[in-house]
Order: sequence, then C-alpha cells, then structure tokens
Amino acid sequence: MALRCPDCGEARLRVMATLELGSDERSDEIALQIVECADCELEAVAVYEECSRGALDDESVIHCAYPADAEALDEVRGLISSCRDRRGPDCPCRGHARAREMVRDRLEPAGLDWSQPMPITFVRT
Ligand SMILES: [Zn+2]
Ligand SMILES: [Zn+2]
Repeated sequence: MALRCPDCGEARLRVMATLELGSDERSDEIALQIVECADCELEAVAVYEECSRGALDDESVIHCAYPADAEALDEVRGLISSCRDRRGPDCPCRGHARAREMVRDRLEPAGLDWSQPMPITFVRT
C-alpha cells in the first residue's frame, strides 16, 4: 500500500510523523500528521479520520493534506516530536492538547485552511 501525493499524483507520499488523538464526536479515530512527497516538494499537515459508526461494513476514512507554510509545519512537527506517547490517544501532554485543539477547531489555530483539503488516496501495489 502506498499513498498518492495529492499534488504531483505519484504514489510516493510518506507520513513523516503521526500523533494519534483517539475519537471525538465526529470520528472514531483521528490522527494529526506531517506528510512529505519523495517526488515533488509537497510538505503538508494531514488529518486522518476514520469513522466506523453506522452500517457495519460502511467504514469511511477521510485522509486529507492541508497546504501549510513553514511556520505551521514547524509548529505541528514540534508538537508531535514533543510527545513521548504518540500512539496513546489519552496522553495528557501539551502536544496532544494542542493537536486536539487544532483538529477540533478545524486547523484554524495552525493558520491552515480547512476548506482547501487535498485528498490523499491509497494505491494498491
Ligand atoms: Zn508529490
Ligand atoms: Zn502526548
């Protein structure tokens, strides 16, 4: 499985860092990520949301990148690397608290534009 870069279309997008945030009222599984394309210059903040509520075999995943400037990338990278339990949704650290706030407020605290998502798709290889 590879990820397709929403910018150049090559299946060379890599997730560089992930902070798992658990669930909220919209989704069962949420993660804030930094993604980078090995082919083009794309570097972005991404949000992964998985929702398995509703019909049994109707699992939906939303995985989108949001173009970010250097400042926003630095902030998100910094808060992910400051955490010692990135796979622990109940982690009480400040990085987690800030990441939860960002996702809840649709990335506005990071200065990103939630209305301009770049969908990331899986490529079966
Ligand atoms: Zn690319
Ligand atoms: Zn944490």
